[in-house]
Amino acid sequence: MIFPFLRFPTMFYIEPTNDCNLSCIMCPRKTSRKAVGYMSFDLFRDVVDQLKKQKIIQLSLHLIGEPLLHPQIAEMVRHAKGKGLPYVRFATNATLLNDDVCVDLIESGLDSLTISMDTSTATYYCPGTKGEELFAGLDKNIRQLMTLRNRRGRKTPEVHMQIIHMTQTQGLIDEFVKKWQGIADRVTVQPQLSWAGHIKVPRKGRRRLVCINHLTQGVVQWDGDVSCCCLHIDSQGDSGGILGNVMHTSLEAIFLGTRRREIIEAQLRGHYEAVPSCKECPDWNDFMDLIQKDKKTSTGVAV
Ligand code: SF4
Ligand code: SF4
Repeated sequence: MIFPFLRFPTMFYIEPTNDCNLSCIMCPRKTSRKAVGYMSFDLFRDVVDQLKKQKIIQLSLHLIGEPLLHPQIAEMVRHAKGKGLPYVRFATNATLLNDDVCVDLIESGLDSLTISMDTSTATYYCPGTKGEELFAGLDKNIRQLMTLRNRRGRKTPEVHMQIIHMTQTQGLIDEFVKKWQGIADRVTVQPQLSWAGHIKVPRKGRRRLVCINHLTQGVVQWDGDVSCCCLHIDSQGDSGGILGNVMHTSLEAIFLGTRRREIIEAQLRGHYEAVPSCKECPDWNDFMDLIQKDKKTSTGVAV
């Protein structure tokens, strides 16, 4: 054994749904072979019960899909906060953020909301969609969330506006940052991810080490499948990085079990093919950069 320090992950993702009302060009959803579905509240409750016994520092309620499509998303947040889980957040495209949803989220105790879309980026992310109705109210929705929150004297959810740095958005970045600075709590420029090689993005030439996600991340997909990276969205059994299913095995048994240890030890030896989706993945670079730049956004991979 060359890695005796196996610990339960501290950064957790739960996927309420992998369904979405958009089809963005940089999104790997269309290449995923996974069935589209919604997590049951019973399963969510069971996962939260298991997590509250662990020392996690952040819970993200998204993976690949639009969390606001789940009819119980605010209830999920309320439940997780009620069980004492710290820093509950999710990422949204904001198209479904009407006044009622805003109030529900503010009252749920949500700590942070990442919004990876505005009217200027929407045209580039989703060209040729029947976007007018969806996107017309986008900026108003986001400003209204800030207004409703501030009027209640609340500081949460912290609103984090994000733009993805890619060829199509190159000329929009300054304008986006200028527009949202002073309105949102935080504005960031996110490097484009390849989603474990699903999308071609330029590689960096850094020496590869064990990926930080294997050490720190835990993911439960909508159907209970468990993996160790938020980019394992195409997960099909062992070859896709699936470590088990929480409906049959406890999270503790999965994350402290043999398979995860084998993957980490293989990566320490330079064998990245232990999980095929890691083999050609350049995205570990970006997770390292994010951690070095800003610890608070280290898992802020918003879809
Ligand atoms: S990037 Fe997000 S909003 Fe766009 S299609 Fe994918 S899941 Fe939906
Ligand atoms: S190498 Fe890529 S796919 Fe594998 S765990 Fe790291 S970020 Fe995820």
